[in-house]
This record gives sequence, structure tokens and C-alpha cells, in this order.
Amino acid sequence: MDLVHVSTGDILRDEMAKKTPLGTEASGYMAGGRLVPDRLVMDMLKSRLGAETRGLLFDGFPRTVAQAEMLDAWFVSRGQDLDAVVFLNVAEAVVMARLGSRRTCTGCGRIYNVISSPPAKEGVCDACGKPLMTRTDDKTEVIAKRIQVYKDQTEPLLAYYRASGNFLEADGGKTPEEVTKDVLALLRVKP
Ligand code: AMP
Repeated sequence: MDLVHVSTGDILRDEMAKKTPLGTEASGYMAGGRLVPDRLVMDMLKSRLGAETRGLLFDGFPRTVAQAEMLDAWFVSRGQDLDAVVFLNVAEAVVMARLGSRRTCTGCGRIYNVISSPPAKEGVCDACGKPLMTRTDDKTEVIAKRIQVYKDQTEPLLAYYRASGNFLEADGGKTPEEVTKDVLALLRVKP
């Protein structure tokens, strides 16, 4: 499948690293574990993806019902359809543990987990040799805030998409390999 991976979190971190006006505005929200305002996220996506003709695989988006409604309207204006929504269901304790043990490469962005997929040499990226870091929003106090924000603002999306008829759910508590297999099977895509 010729899909473009669109992670709004990655795009926002890129804007922050480049110190663009959007990145500067978004940084306070992100560091505190809050959501960046819907309008900023939507304008950012429209400007980045306006000319994109391939299929889109959104990751971490939409995060609110308002974003989902704006996405629906945007798809209508582009003559595109939403084929599927995949919900990776993970218990809260597992989310806390995974985020707390996640490390991200400061060079290439590759993600590690110090418990389940550590780098060969502690603190150093296998791929590019740059140091690994803990994302500011993966610090314990911010993780708790992000989970509360999820419950308040993102969980209502489950009802929104369950009603839409193209909602798929996988057990995200399994290993990355198993989750990949399950999601591909749900989407009826051959690995
Ligand atoms: P992520 O990398 O998806 O975990 O996102 C990291 C942070 O970026 C979130 O905690 C939010 O502050 C911000 N963010 C990412 N995607 C969105 C979105 N769709 N709407 C609002 N804020 C977002």
C-alpha cells in the first residue's frame, strides 16, 4: 500500500526543532502534556498535505471530536474517504510503563524501550550513534496529565468512530510484532 505516515506529534516536534512560529506556539502545550489547539493542528496538516495525492495513515490524529469533524469536512472537499479507524486498546498501567521506559534518538528519531527493546549500547542509537533522550512529555508527571487529557478529550472519539461503521479494534497490549500482524489482518492487508 502506498500510504504516507502522518504523525502530528512528529510534525509538531519538527516545527519546534526548526523554531517556526507554530513550533514556538505549540511547545508550551506539548511540554505540559496538553493538546495543541485544534485549529493550529488542522491548518498545519492542510498546509503540509494540500498537494499530497497518496493515501494517508494518520498517527496521533485526530485527538478530539472537533478535529475528527474538521477531517471529515476536509476529506469531502478533497473527494477522499476515511477507509478505517484503528484503535489500539492498551491498559492504562501498560501505557504508563511504556512511556516511562521509552527513549528517543536525538539524531534520527528512532524509538527504543529500555525494557523491551533496548539499544545495543546504553544511551546510544544503534542506527546513527547519537545519544538517546527521554522526551520532555515522557517524564512521569507529564504522563499522568497526558492520560487525563486522553480521557477528557480523546476518548469521546471512540463513540464518534464506533458509530461510523469503519471502526477496528486491536489489543495493543501485545508485542509490536503481534499488534502489527493483528492490524494487518483487520485491514485484510497481506504482510
Ligand atoms: P504524540 O507524539 O502523538 O504522543 O504527541 C505529542 C504531543 O504533541 C501531544 O501530547 C500533544 O501536545 C501534541 N499533539 C500531537 N498530535 C496532536 C493532535 N492531533 N492534536 C493536538 N495536539 C497534538
